[in-house]
Amino acid sequence: MSVSITFLGGLGEIGRNSAAIEIEGRIALIDCGLMFPEEDMLGVDLVFPDWSWLVERSDDVECVILTHGHEDHTGALAYFLRDVNVPVLGTRLTIELARARIDELGVEGDLRHVPVKKWVDQGPFRFQLIPVSHSVPDASAVALETPEGVIVHSGDFKLDPTPIDGVPTDLPAFATLGRRGVRLLMADSTNAERPGFEPSESSVGQPISDAIRDASGRVIAACFASHIHRIQQIAGAGIANGRKIAFFGRSMHRNTTIATDLKSLDIPQKSVVDIKDMDELPPEQQLLITTGSQGEPFAALSLMSQGQHKFVEVGEGDTVLISAKPIPGNERAVSKVISNLTRRGAKVVHGTNAPVHVSGHANRDELLTFLNLLRPQAFVPVHGEYRHLHAHAELARSMGVRHVDVLEDGDRVILNGKKTQVLRRAVPAGFVYLDGSSVGDVQSAVLRDRSHLADEGVVVVTVGIDHDTGEVVYGPDMDSHGLMDDPSAVLDKAADAVKEAIVEHASGRSDIGELQKTIRQAAGRVIRAETARRPVIVPVVMEL
Ligand SMILES: [Zn+2]
Repeated sequence: MSVSITFLGGLGEIGRNSAAIEIEGRIALIDCGLMFPEEDMLGVDLVFPDWSWLVERSDDVECVILTHGHEDHTGALAYFLRDVNVPVLGTRLTIELARARIDELGVEGDLRHVPVKKWVDQGPFRFQLIPVSHSVPDASAVALETPEGVIVHSGDFKLDPTPIDGVPTDLPAFATLGRRGVRLLMADSTNAERPGFEPSESSVGQPISDAIRDASGRVIAACFASHIHRIQQIAGAGIANGRKIAFFGRSMHRNTTIATDLKSLDIPQKSVVDIKDMDELPPEQQLLITTGSQGEPFAALSLMSQGQHKFVEVGEGDTVLISAKPIPGNERAVSKVISNLTRRGAKVVHGTNAPVHVSGHANRDELLTFLNLLRPQAFVPVHGEYRHLHAHAELARSMGVRHVDVLEDGDRVILNGKKTQVLRRAVPAGFVYLDGSSVGDVQSAVLRDRSHLADEGVVVVTVGIDHDTGEVVYGPDMDSHGLMDDPSAVLDKAADAVKEAIVEHASGRSDIGELQKTIRQAAGRVIRAETARRPVIVPVVMEL
């Protein structure tokens, strides 16, 4: 009897993590995440995995198991449950963060808390959630007992020996599984290229405290709203330095309320004030904790940096603490925010000029330690761009794991007795887009497009494709506005790259969405290399 795992997302990009494990014809989905759009995805708000094949088999789907509460692991859940409504299982905070999100979207779901370190039976699935340390509390790995042996999915993790809540990655539990024998391991590859050990979350406490102590006026601190332990450390440092706390941003309010109810966050009520009342306090008693650490254009911090915020005008004497690093793709936006805040006279302390941020993902030596504890027969690196997956695979090979495969979205691994087989492109795995017109804040999407167009210009790529063969029969025809004075040489080069990419693309995949993505990437890469600009690229594909 074989067991298979099919990867819907997260293998080849950072985001939309999701994997389907099938036993005896029944399917459990591990995570159901979303991806935030890349800069070149015009008008797109969110990117999902393609679960159309699971909709066709919806009677076979048993449950969703969540590893932790991050959006790239739970953010597509509401949309999935609309299509396939099955029970969702996870730890307490994970489930409550997910519940708040699906409630907001008006979706009914059967969400259940599962205790950690206890075997749970759900249909043919027997699994256990094992605590791991990560940048959100209550994160877990999943171990499954299957007819083909034990399978372990690490979730997102690091080996933090001194986490804020005193719940480190449960190495003894993993060692026990390792001794029993692990048939297949899937593990987080995000930091597989980074040497050594990532410093502990508690290591940022002192630098954050120093920055707040040294501030003469108001302090505005930004971090991820789900990073409850970071919020705890910032708030604690503020209170110790005689400040009151005001929270800012919808997700910041939502998550701190949930975490406080579940006792993951402990901030005395008397130390918290409403943002509207903050102005009554002298600046040296104010600490604002806000969203916007990623330079999101309409988050509070961005508005403050442009002098457009309703309540807060940033200026001389203010200290802004950005306790985060930009995720790939956001570097420029964050850099702009830092420059604008500095121009307004604020002192900006951020992950690059002070040790006020650490990653929630394991570095190389941690990954090697983890591999050594589990000693799996087969290994599939997950959660990363291709380069990260490749680096993680090399680590596993270097320590003698027998069967190592770098898989991508849509691929399947099949465990069948002694054999470990790989089926490439077992299911469709293109990006599924949700644009502003179907849900969410249309206004902000339109504004974002406009500002992007104004900054960088637009390139329209028109291609005619033979309906049957997928060959290019017209174009690529390139038309640009606002890019540069004489763009013809650059556009010629880009056209060649687009044509080449389409030819490569044609072997195998056929959906238009994927093809548009290929065109955007190919054209974008050349234009970026030649001009250092990132225009909006609009691919127009005609099937002829
Ligand atoms: Zn995560």
